[in-house]
Amino acid sequence: MAEQKYPEWVWHNGKIVPWKDATVHVMSHSLQYGSSVFEGIRCYKTPKGGAIFRLAAHMRRFFNSARIYDMPMPFTVEQVSTACHEILIKNGFDQAYIRPCAYRGLGGFGISADCPVGVTVAGWPMAAYLGPDALKKGITACVSSWQRFAPNTIPSGAKAAGNYLSGQLIAREARQRGFGEGIALSTSGLISEGAGENVFLVMDGALHTAPVSASLLNGITRNSIITLARDNGVEVVERDLPREYLYLADEIFMCGTAAEVTPIRAIDNKQVGAGEAGPVTRKLQDLFFGLFDGRTQDKWGWLEML
Ligand code: PMP
Repeated sequence: MAEQKYPEWVWHNGKIVPWKDATVHVMSHSLQYGSSVFEGIRCYKTPKGGAIFRLAAHMRRFFNSARIYDMPMPFTVEQVSTACHEILIKNGFDQAYIRPCAYRGLGGFGISADCPVGVTVAGWPMAAYLGPDALKKGITACVSSWQRFAPNTIPSGAKAAGNYLSGQLIAREARQRGFGEGIALSTSGLISEGAGENVFLVMDGALHTAPVSASLLNGITRNSIITLARDNGVEVVERDLPREYLYLADEIFMCGTAAEVTPIRAIDNKQVGAGEAGPVTRKLQDLFFGLFDGRTQDKWGWLEML
């Protein structure tokens, strides 16, 4: 495995500590039972300096995830937001992926034990998540043999560590089969989402994406794309999407904080459109990345300077 270079500092329970000291006990509830919730946020380098993208929306989802799992948060939204800023400044990063995490710590071995909740915020520089050519040339994808979890089993609307067991099955299977990413169907057999990305189809110039009832995470990038599209006269439809539309769409792309806006050039070995990023995908990529170099006006107050 390639040697990983770690950042120097981590924010852990209210203090900034050296990377090696940001630890939990092996018998922590979260390690044994997957009981942690987290966020993934990007900070972009803009002409005016580092800017965190949609921190308030990420904080809202972070605290909502904790609320769903009845995890009492020992810090306020303001404190965790400040920690996101501080950890980047301390490490000297103006371009990074930020990972806040709240976890049930050590405090009993039972499934429903009231373990104390710890909070940590790490940040590290991150390039294109799905590979250097992904944003330009697109990636290949497959429909996973693994479905997403059913509603009323594990809530897909919470960004909880345990959900990513499903994500690991989907992503690892896709890569073992030689695809860039996997897309899962919901238990009703309709399109849900990628292992860590929401999915958009372009058909007759309009954007189509599955509704949150299709066992997916209500992505903040998804919301940004919908907002940018509508603001620029592109029609957006949230609707149930049968699998075969993946083979009929003119364009397909995935989006997420890590994946940003990644075109899909083939799915299940069938070419999508012309086999490259199509015009609507390119337009949305341009509007999205334009937010960070000033070409797209930030009408919504999405950028928060470091
Ligand atoms: N679905 C899943 C399962 C994810 O992990 C992510 C990444 N957080 C997304 C969708 C996209 O969400 P966002 O745009 O908020 O990063």
